[in-house]
Amino acid sequence: MRYQDLPVQLDRGEVHDVSNPLLCDHFSKDDILNQNAVHRLYLMQVGIMPLYGIPIVCYLVQTGDDKNILIDSGLPEIIPEDASEFENGQDVIEQLASMGLTPDDIDTVISTHYDGDHAGRHAAFTKAQYVVQRVHHLDAASNPRYASIRPQWDQPMERIRLVDGDTELLPGLELIETSGHVPGHQSVLVRLPTTGAVLLTIDAVPFGEGFTRDEPDDGSDPDAAAVRASTIKLLDRVEREHIGLVIFGHDQEQWKTLKKAPEFYE
Ligand SMILES: [Zn+2]
Repeated sequence: MRYQDLPVQLDRGEVHDVSNPLLCDHFSKDDILNQNAVHRLYLMQVGIMPLYGIPIVCYLVQTGDDKNILIDSGLPEIIPEDASEFENGQDVIEQLASMGLTPDDIDTVISTHYDGDHAGRHAAFTKAQYVVQRVHHLDAASNPRYASIRPQWDQPMERIRLVDGDTELLPGLELIETSGHVPGHQSVLVRLPTTGAVLLTIDAVPFGEGFTRDEPDDGSDPDAAAVRASTIKLLDRVEREHIGLVIFGHDQEQWKTLKKAPEFYE
C-alpha cells in the first residue's frame, strides 16, 4: 500500500495559552509563526541510480530569521569506484546557487548518515555546523562502509554537534533517531506554517511500499529488526500527529509528484 499525500492546513486563527506547559509537548502554532521557526522546505534531486531510476536527493530548510539548514549533501563530485552505480546530476552547490545561496550561507548541515549518496559534499560547507547522531559518528570512525568519503564527514569536532536520540533542533525541526539502515540513522520532521508537518524518512523508509507494519525483510540492511522498529516508530508518529506528507528517501514514483527547487513547500 502506498502512503497518500494529504497536506494538512494549519488553523492560524486559533488562540491558545502558550504559558501552559501542558500545551507545549510539541510545537505550538505560535512557535511555527515565530521568526526563528521553519518557513520553507526545498527538495533537490542531485543525482540518480540510472539502472533503477532512483533519485538521490537532499533538502534545504529556511527559517524566518534567514537561517539555511541543509539536510544531506548528495553524491561526491567524483564518484568512487565502489559506487559506480550512481551518477551525478545538478549538484547541491549549483542548486543552492540558483536560489542565490553560496556554501558559506549554510549554517547547519543535518547529516542523516554518512553513506556516499548522502554525505558526499559535506566538506564544501566550511561555515556550517554538522549535526549527526553520536552512535553513527562513532561507528563511522572504524566502519569501512564510510571510508571512501571520510574526507567529507570527518570534520573537526568543534564543528560537529553529536546528538543522542530524538532531538528538537529548533521550533519546527525535529530529528528522529531511526537506526536499522545503519546505526544512528536519523529521519527529520519539518513543521511548516501552511503545509503542516512533513516527515522526511530518508533511508529508514526508502520506498513508499515499505511503509507498513509488516514489511518483509529483503536482506539489504544489516539489522532487520531495527529497520522494522524504526518503520513502526515513524508510522506511530504519522498516525498520532496526523502528519500529512511523508517523503520517502529514494522513491522515484513519489518524487515525480513532489515540488522540487526552486519551488518549495511553506
Ligand atoms: Zn540513501
